[in-house]
Amino acid sequence: MKNATFNYSTTPCPVCDSLSGKETINTYTVSEAAAHFCPPTRDQDRNQRLLHCIRRLWKADESKFLRCLDCGFGFGHPYVGGDEEFYSILHEQKGYPGWKWDFDYARNKINASSGSGKLLDVGAGEGQFLVRMKENFECFALEGSETTRNELKSKGITVFADVTEAVEQYPGKFDYVTVFQVLEHLSDFRDLLSACKRLLKPGGNIILTVPDCDAMILQEIVTGCADMPPNHINKWTPNSLKIALNEAGFKTSTAIRQPDSYANITGALHLKLIHDATRKNTLASQVYKLRDKRVRVPFLALLAIPALLKMAFSFSKLRKGGSFAISGIA
Ligand SMILES: [Zn+2]
Repeated sequence: MKNATFNYSTTPCPVCDSLSGKETINTYTVSEAAAHFCPPTRDQDRNQRLLHCIRRLWKADESKFLRCLDCGFGFGHPYVGGDEEFYSILHEQKGYPGWKWDFDYARNKINASSGSGKLLDVGAGEGQFLVRMKENFECFALEGSETTRNELKSKGITVFADVTEAVEQYPGKFDYVTVFQVLEHLSDFRDLLSACKRLLKPGGNIILTVPDCDAMILQEIVTGCADMPPNHINKWTPNSLKIALNEAGFKTSTAIRQPDSYANITGALHLKLIHDATRKNTLASQVYKLRDKRVRVPFLALLAIPALLKMAFSFSKLRKGGSFAISGIA
């Protein structure tokens, strides 16, 4: 397959539609992307399936990440997110995270206002947020994975497979819609946001969290670990997310940044080790071959020492929270 030639000057910004200035943040080849999600040294078969899947999605051997100089939004080009096949391969090893900052932010915000009614969580995972909200809310989930949907149902949560189904059954019925760390994955974010507007009662609230564009760019420079498409194809800034929410008909609040914490450095360290493991003949790539976690973890702890020293100059920046939250009124 030959490399497609992209014409940036005719590529509109997906958020503000501007055709003018864009900078290239990064370029990734299909094999770099496949190795990022699963290095061939760890699982050759899975790496090859990812390789074919990503090439099919990109219809090219590489993808660029561009940034709109007008609104600050960063986006993958070609502008295509992961599909069902991509995520089914990706999720063979990945679990859902536990309680996180995003949930605390939303819960405090919801409890500070009415604190009851109908609540929908978009991309609900295994329902970590909803099960903690069930006491005061009638809880609904939108979840793409069938296995996870069954798990949510077993927890007494009403589940939709897609947003169209939700809009057909409950138009204008929700008091709150939460969208945690979803919008960085979607090329059709406009459809999702306008569907959320239709789902909410007039005056209802949408609460979103996303990774912060500048934090992701910094993290990639310091750790070497890419914020890789087609998993993440959007890098949001507070300004660009406000534009998208306003366009969907929401009145927006001021964005709130995730608090600084030394725990954020641990996350960056983990990414650095993952990145080292994607390169052949590194110690990290050998350690990640160890299947038994009880053996692997002590070796990783040893590798963490030189990795930490390499990142030492950036500690103050890496302490900064990597996400921000924003809310909107329908
Ligand atoms: Zn723009």
